[in-house]
Amino acid sequence: MILIVAEHAGGQLAKSTLEMVTAARAVLESGGGREGPVTILVLGQNVAEVANAAAAVADQVLVADLPGLATYNAEVWAAATAQIAQEGEASVVIIGGSRSGREYAPRVAVKLDAPYLEDAIALKANGQALQAQRYTYLARVTETVEAEAPVIVVTVKPGSFAPAAPAPAAGEQYDVELDLPAPRVEVTGRSVEKSSRVALTEADVIVTGGRGVGSPENFATYVEGLADRLGAGVGATRAVVDAGWRPYAEQVGQTGKTVQPKAYVALGVSGAVQHLSGMGKSKYIVAINKDAEAPIFKVADYGIVGDVNQIVPALIEAARK
Ligand code: FAD
Repeated sequence: MILIVAEHAGGQLAKSTLEMVTAARAVLESGGGREGPVTILVLGQNVAEVANAAAAVADQVLVADLPGLATYNAEVWAAATAQIAQEGEASVVIIGGSRSGREYAPRVAVKLDAPYLEDAIALKANGQALQAQRYTYLARVTETVEAEAPVIVVTVKPGSFAPAAPAPAAGEQYDVELDLPAPRVEVTGRSVEKSSRVALTEADVIVTGGRGVGSPENFATYVEGLADRLGAGVGATRAVVDAGWRPYAEQVGQTGKTVQPKAYVALGVSGAVQHLSGMGKSKYIVAINKDAEAPIFKVADYGIVGDVNQIVPALIEAARK
């Protein structure tokens, strides 16, 4: 079994879970003797909808719908995951490379006495070993690591794999019993940032602004303005983040987020290689840049050579109509 621990929020299955399914299928298709079924473990409370969404892409879904799983807790998630991995004799355990995933995945590895491969951007079998690629040294270097063991724990960098499409037939769902530990760390409060905008890693459309946008004010008007019209997520280049115009959470690229939306609109972005590595797998890339020689046009499906100050207001107006 290849065991994936679902990431979900607000009753919705996260796109990262679909990406982990693709990672699991990449492992199976590359040989090496590791076998399915591709199994998604859903931990939480009132997660019926999440489980249904998981069943659409997986061979089977194990559902632990329990009050003790209402809120994420590293100790509990690690114990639950390790228990299910042991019972199902999982050969690979795939966990999202989110903050929480990277918190509890090493604990799962310790409980299973398994090697741990963190932040994989590619996965495949190499003989009996499992081989992963990951960035290191501030993403200046891509390294290949491998481990050979009966079970291996992996975290997958969000945005590195295409989200899996629904399978022809939905996977079976099974309720599972768990022996949950009493957590020693308790979440005592939570304030959720209210944003009407879709998260970068979930977005089908992303509008990103670069230094060519000109100022933080222009960024708000043009980049956020167009994103709002298109129901898109907002991204930024490192130049813009380093200048303090935008928060690091919006940075796309080697040292920011990796994204793979259906459409990526780059406004005043030069297309440096470190930026391209974070968005180059987007399905359609649209670029507006006043320099016809800007490298972004080498990857763009549609390009407009011109000034964002003139073109974007017209686009916003067109989108409004
Ligand atoms: P610039 O390169 O300054 O480009 C601005 C563009 O806007 C130009 O092409 C210009 O022609 C155009 N322009 C100017 N005015 C207008 C106008 N009025 N209308 C239309 N177009 C206009 N970068 C990232 O983005 N993400 C990363 O994660 C990242 N990681 C890095 C990691 C390392 C180790 C290193 C060394 C660098 C990294 N960088 C990263 C930085 C990267 O090399 C570039 O410096 C950066 O992406 C440039 O950002 P930019 O395109 O906004 O700015």
